[in-house]
Amino acid sequence: MHDVVIIGSGCAGLTAAIYAARANLKPLVLEGHEPGGQLSLTTHVENFPGFPDGIMGPELIENMKKQAARFGTEFKAGAVTEVDLTERPFRVTAGGQTFETKSVIVAAGASARLLGLKGERELIGKGVSTCATCDGYFFRGKPIAVVGGGDSAMEEATFLSRYASKVYLIHRRNEFRATKIMIDRARANEKVEFVTPYVVEEILSPQGLVTGVKLRNLETKAERQIELDGVFIAIGHDPNSTVFKGKLDMDENGYLKARHGSLTNIPGVFIAGDVQDHRYRQAVTAAGSGCMAAIDAEKFLEEHTGL
Ligand code: NAP
Repeated sequence: MHDVVIIGSGCAGLTAAIYAARANLKPLVLEGHEPGGQLSLTTHVENFPGFPDGIMGPELIENMKKQAARFGTEFKAGAVTEVDLTERPFRVTAGGQTFETKSVIVAAGASARLLGLKGERELIGKGVSTCATCDGYFFRGKPIAVVGGGDSAMEEATFLSRYASKVYLIHRRNEFRATKIMIDRARANEKVEFVTPYVVEEILSPQGLVTGVKLRNLETKAERQIELDGVFIAIGHDPNSTVFKGKLDMDENGYLKARHGSLTNIPGVFIAGDVQDHRYRQAVTAAGSGCMAAIDAEKFLEEHTGL
């Protein structure tokens, strides 16, 4: 029987683990299908306090993991496939094993969205990517596209210009959701060409490898084809909340709903990070909410010693 099981090993889950471990709760972290979460798929993090020169996302997350392990956190690989929150002890199944626990912190994060085009998913690893850091290196000297108009798209376009011969930044509007500093940086990069207002209608892959994209201009309706070797999709994320459907309160987009900090509709179940935050979605806010969830779990366990 565990005191606390933490679902997710991103910034929120690991911060919760650091706090819970230091409170002597010996947390078990179930790492999920994307160990390390989104920080492990990102590049240079310039806005996490305490790092004046920035830090690489994977390094930041590795440091958090070491910090959590140092105080006695246990880690298990595998995604959660089933949760039973109807009675205590709660039961959480991951990687074929079921764990009983007095409390649960859900920090399952959010995952990259795809465009929904035919064959797109099958082309992941064959020219389609949702992770510039992981795959940028494979496109040395080759033309590629980044799809999206938010900070992620700007950041990835700038990052990928280190490798690619040319980066087409394809966005469906002429206006961008991204912050000005990120847009200016991408615009100042001579390898980056802005292609707006275009949608990707087809990813061309006659031999099973990406060779280009077919685009449609949303104003003129004109078609445009661009030959390229890679398509990086940076159009936002969806919360990893499917296993909690009908169990925890969620909004129409699947984001879990917090009550008073990290509390949920089920006493003993707490939430943190991007699985409950579609507004801020920052590493530092995820870390902060992970801390809150761990403190709430600790208080809950103190008040329910008979569990
Ligand atoms: P986002 O801000 O939600 O932007 C998603 C972009 O993708 C939007 O431009 C959206 O277009 C477009 N899009 C969505 N669905 C699409 C579809 N089906 N087809 C074509 N385009 C589509 O997501 P994000 O860029 O991943 O950023 C998420 C959060 O992380 C933001 O708060 C951001 O500030 C933060 N972030 C910060 C940094 C940094 O500071 N270094 C880096 C990355 C991300 P519309 O605008 O037309 O809706």
